[in-house]
Amino acid sequence: MTAVLIDGKAFAARVRAEVAGHVARLKADHGLTPGLAVVLVGEDPASQVYVGAKGKQTVEVGMASFEHKLPAETSEADLLALIRRLNDDPEVHGILVQLPLPSHLNSDLVINAIDPAKDVDGFHISNVGRLGTGQKSMVPCTPLGCLMMLRDHLGKLAGLNAVVVGRSNIVGKPMAQLLLGDSCTVTIAHSRTKDLAAVCRGADILVAAVGRPEMITGDYVKPGATVIDVGINRIQRDGKSKLVGDVDFASAVQVAGAITPVPGGVGPMTIACLLANTLTACCRANGLPEPQ
Ligand code: NDP
Repeated sequence: MTAVLIDGKAFAARVRAEVAGHVARLKADHGLTPGLAVVLVGEDPASQVYVGAKGKQTVEVGMASFEHKLPAETSEADLLALIRRLNDDPEVHGILVQLPLPSHLNSDLVINAIDPAKDVDGFHISNVGRLGTGQKSMVPCTPLGCLMMLRDHLGKLAGLNAVVVGRSNIVGKPMAQLLLGDSCTVTIAHSRTKDLAAVCRGADILVAAVGRPEMITGDYVKPGATVIDVGINRIQRDGKSKLVGDVDFASAVQVAGAITPVPGGVGPMTIACLLANTLTACCRANGLPEPQ
């Protein structure tokens, strides 16, 4: 048996097209242009690539993109002052501070300085609390993209056993909250979990967010399970640089019922969800109905 491929690239293109349609209507009917401000501190090469892709796709869906590239030695006071200006700017509906920040900056302090209504990454403590208590919030983009793909592929998720491998604040924990919100029976596994393979084999839905290249092999997968691979790892193979996930695709595809590839799975959905969150923030800020 070979698993069905869940095509995140095509799904993300659909989401972006829907967002672009909503943006066009907001402009035509209300004279509003959703705006996303992205703040990058320092010259981390991967972050520069992500920020470039975010800016390009923001403009492509018709939104305004505001990029703030600051030197690595930027002080906390200067960064907080910029965030205050963006919080007060009516043309900015979403603010994203690219992580990781240089080590002299306190990420928690910086993220919690963002107006929660503009926190399109969903990392502000008040959005985390709202998500955990089932209140309307901004939902972190990567887990939101995973949930959308799962709903699209499986329909209703209620009652399914879901195992999330990884307990980070940006992926694992919010992913588990979202699956719980859809009435899955959720297990969160991590580096101290005993017999991880056996835990994973109990999963109808297996989400890998570990940061270890190809760690989750086919023998971790229950036959027919839906596997979502969040991992993005750059490795050297046969003298070439290659992107691989946290799942060993070659063996898992033989066992799973459906699986996301890397690249072309979760990655493209993350930016699409960022744009969708910015649109939502713009609608909420202007008292307009939120796009479904
Ligand atoms: P973190 O490093 O913050 O968290 C990794 C988690 O995996 C931790 O909870 C850790 O456990 C757990 N873990 C590590 N080793 C093992 C192991 N041997 N067995 C079981 N669990 C283990 O990573 P992130 O959550 O930030 O990211 C995870 C992956 O997702 C990375 O590959 C990252 O590049 C990718 N990513 C992709 C995105 C996308 O857009 N597609 C966006 C964000 C991340 P413990 O807590 O016990 O240490």
